[in-house]
Amino acid sequence: MSGSIVRALKCRECGQEYKIAPTHVCEFCFGPLEVAYDYDKLEGKFTRELIESRPQTMWRYRELLPIDGEPTVGVQVGFTPLVRAHNLEKALGVSELYIKNDSVCYPTLSFKDRVVSVALSKAVEFGFETVACASTGNLAGSVSANAAAAGLKSYVFIPHDLEQGKVLSAAIYGTKLVGIKGTYDDVNRLCSEIAGKYDWAFVNVNVRPFYAEGSKSFAYEIMEQLGWQAPKHVVVPMASGSLCTKIDKAIKEFTRFGLVENAGTSIYGAQATGCSPITRSVKEGTDLIHPVRPDTIAKSLAIGNPADGYYANKVILDSGGWSEDVSDDEIVAAMRLLAETEGIFTETAGGVTLGCAKKLIEAGRIPRDESIVVSVTGNGLKTLEAIEGRVDAPSLIGPSLAEFDDLVKADKA
Ligand SMILES: *Cc1c(COP(=O)(O)O)cnc(C)c1O
Ligand SMILES: [Zn+2]
Repeated sequence: MSGSIVRALKCRECGQEYKIAPTHVCEFCFGPLEVAYDYDKLEGKFTRELIESRPQTMWRYRELLPIDGEPTVGVQVGFTPLVRAHNLEKALGVSELYIKNDSVCYPTLSFKDRVVSVALSKAVEFGFETVACASTGNLAGSVSANAAAAGLKSYVFIPHDLEQGKVLSAAIYGTKLVGIKGTYDDVNRLCSEIAGKYDWAFVNVNVRPFYAEGSKSFAYEIMEQLGWQAPKHVVVPMASGSLCTKIDKAIKEFTRFGLVENAGTSIYGAQATGCSPITRSVKEGTDLIHPVRPDTIAKSLAIGNPADGYYANKVILDSGGWSEDVSDDEIVAAMRLLAETEGIFTETAGGVTLGCAKKLIEAGRIPRDESIVVSVTGNGLKTLEAIEGRVDAPSLIGPSLAEFDDLVKADKA
């Protein structure tokens, strides 16, 4: 037994509860369903010692993840590095900054392995044999790889114009990959129709409530790796807005169990200017999310009609945070800054997050003398197009010492 204390699915709007099943919408008010737990059952039992005694994976927090038995998919996922970024601190003029580095998440180099390991473990418990997803890129690779390892059939739906690194690194696993001539929002709409017709576990449609809980492990790890402390400020990339809301939920859960003290953590959203419906709502002081048609190199964040936008807006404002957006040029500049200061190569989404963090610091929204965590959620090798022609090409010489000496002289000049 995993000892999970999951109780029910609960409507975020009207509070109606449902028994655990592959479903995601309230029958009464059409609100989204979320996993609810019996926290009281864990009172006094969920301790730092217990967690520390377990293997270094996201499953060391299993009581707060929504599967009944042992995890069967993604058993080794999680516990990525939290890097103290001294060089970046100097560059940004701040005193305490960390990178939570999910660009090296196992096995597909993005934080999506966290949500997929929960979704597919739950799909296996429900008895599904085929899994599927609508993806902006990273989910495609993660569902494909984890399904292959688990012996599940998979269908993966993507917008037709994704980066080669995303397409090929999903196709390699032998998934049925379907490119849709349209935006992610078109893909998502089609997938809702397909999910209604085919008896598949769509990780971000009918099993979305379980999938989304996997994101909490990103924040559990940050708090444990900070020495059982919540950060004062955390900057989060937003596509649907789900990760943003689950970081908030995770911090509240750890605070409730006394695993960390309440640090009054402020949560900041990050989006690309070319697809920033949540940031726009925060800046304009409304909780209405106006859908947009995405136009940005940050394709993994290009959701024009974000499912959790309303809730992300609320989490950001209730926590005392803010939301920012950056242009494509600023995204590439931030990718370079992270690589040149910390030796971490993130994808465009990481450029969005660091670029927004920099702007928020410069604007005085994030103070320079408090702890800041920047969430790096994906790997730069999957979005090479973004930096092509924007970093130095190799110096070309013949295999001769004289030619190399000339090069060194030219470098010094
Ligand atoms: C999917 C994704 C996110 C955020 O997704 P949400 O839908 O907001 O939870 C962030 N970064 C990367 C690299 C992603 O692939
Ligand atoms: Zn409801």
